[in-house]
Amino acid sequence: IPPGEKTILGHPRGLFILFFTEMWERFSYYGMRGLLVLYLTQHFLFSDERSAVMYGAYTALVYVMTIIGGSLADKYLGQRKAVTYGAILLVMGHGLMAFEGSGSKEILTYEGQEYQIALDGRGGDAPQIIISDSGQSVITFSDGAKEMLIEQPDVVGLPATIPTDAYETRIEKQDIFVNTLYLALALIIAGVGFLKANISTIVGALYDLGDTRRDSGFTIFYMGINLGSLLSSLTVGIIGIVYGWKWGFGLAGIGMLAGLLTFLFFQPWLEGRADPPSYEKLKEKVLGPINVEWACYLTGLGIVIFAMLTVMNAHLIEEWFVGLLGILIFVFLVGYAVSRLKGTERDRMLAAIYFILAQIPFWALFEQAGSSLTLFTDRLVDRTMFGISVPTPVFQFLNAGYIVVFAPIFAWMWMALARRKMEPSAPVKFAFGVFLAGLGFLSLVGGIAASGSGVAMTAVYFIFLIYWIHTMGELMVSPVGLSQVTKLAPARAVGMSMGAWFLYSGLSNYLAGVIARATGAETIGGQLTDIAAAKATYVEVYTNVAYVAMGVGVFMLLLSPIIK
Ligand code: GLN
Repeated sequence: IPPGEKTILGHPRGLFILFFTEMWERFSYYGMRGLLVLYLTQHFLFSDERSAVMYGAYTALVYVMTIIGGSLADKYLGQRKAVTYGAILLVMGHGLMAFEGSGSKEILTYEGQEYQIALDGRGGDAPQIIISDSGQSVITFSDGAKEMLIEQPDVVGLPATIPTDAYETRIEKQDIFVNTLYLALALIIAGVGFLKANISTIVGALYDLGDTRRDSGFTIFYMGINLGSLLSSLTVGIIGIVYGWKWGFGLAGIGMLAGLLTFLFFQPWLEGRADPPSYEKLKEKVLGPINVEWACYLTGLGIVIFAMLTVMNAHLIEEWFVGLLGILIFVFLVGYAVSRLKGTERDRMLAAIYFILAQIPFWALFEQAGSSLTLFTDRLVDRTMFGISVPTPVFQFLNAGYIVVFAPIFAWMWMALARRKMEPSAPVKFAFGVFLAGLGFLSLVGGIAASGSGVAMTAVYFIFLIYWIHTMGELMVSPVGLSQVTKLAPARAVGMSMGAWFLYSGLSNYLAGVIARATGAETIGGQLTDIAAAKATYVEVYTNVAYVAMGVGVFMLLLSPIIK
């Protein structure tokens, strides 16, 4: 501990401001995210496909924009101002989500009868949904087609096909609240873009270069992240479902306001470690009365407009574009290291880039949690515990719960090992983390195998086990990676590098989606048509990804002396 430093629990006291600000930010983020897909499908009546695509674009953009927020903080704003601005945008975005409106209505008239069409029934090729008293029915038709096909005609009481000239559609109510929804999502995207990478950068700035408390400090910070996520799933999620969407979203907004106030009130505790690189530069005029500082804030509004248009048109984004983005940013980062940096600084930046990329295999497996693993748990696990069938979403508590319990143990362990000069190096921790992602799936495959090749369900303990193994891996990768990036990137590019870290963690989620698709099974009305075949598919895909990840982990272990 440097002489004169004010500490709490042996860490600089600024850590705890960041802990609570980020806890509230993640409270609002995960609380709102937990409701989002349900809100899109049940309130606005978007189709499953359209909602999934919008959800994907939203969660990806949230992390992609951190590279802009991070770079602006490096060059002009400094992290403290960037976090403050991000928090203000977030309060506005989450607050706006609480204005839910009533959804738009489009009406189809056929033989004098009126039928309500769900929101995305606006031309184009997308499947459209007719709402009937007894439920929903999907209709499909494309421009220029001669007839409309009704997939479940008896549900709505229409014939299976209707000639195009026999029906009419009209928009009854163009609800401005749909646009409000897009604006709210865009404000959150820009807000996280300014806040998320920068607040992690400030954590790193609290520790001097040789300070061995760094990994431990990030592990404590990571606990704050998951405490927020845990608290929100117990409050925002439940209130949103039981009392109404706006109350859930509103509570998320109030949580974010608490985060903003915490940060504003206690920022002196950061002791100038996140200030702008030059106050004179910030005051320089760029255009008319607009100075550099305001130009940065206006860039934030530019992100809002861009994000709004992208989320609205998410269904038009092609897959190759996402891959290309990943490659271009990689070329840019390596180009920056090779052309702008020299000697040790360059080597360190290249090591940071190694960590930024090495997280990809980890998240690609770990993020099955919300997709394929959720469906597996829902369909193929015997979820009966203490005589009741536990609802599938409840298992999402496991990860955040394990983190909150085990993060302090890890933080203590890293410090204790460091004192004995026995702490494993960061590349070794990463190798273990990726290996554990694979091992988690291998243990689940063992559990599936134990239930035989027939239709028997897998024992629920294996779900507890895989989440535990994955969480142990997460603690070796995610907080360690944040810590390393702040340490290895040169001070003037640390925000951008942190942005790159989150950008690739966002893109890994995309890869996770590709893996999840491979496990897809045939269903009718949400029920598996062939349980044994579905089990065999899970075993095959999960075994493959498990061995690949374990192999990559071993390879990373061999590589670790070089990276070190
Ligand atoms: N769960 C972590 C957080 O919310 C990790 C996010 C990520 O890197 N994708 O900060």
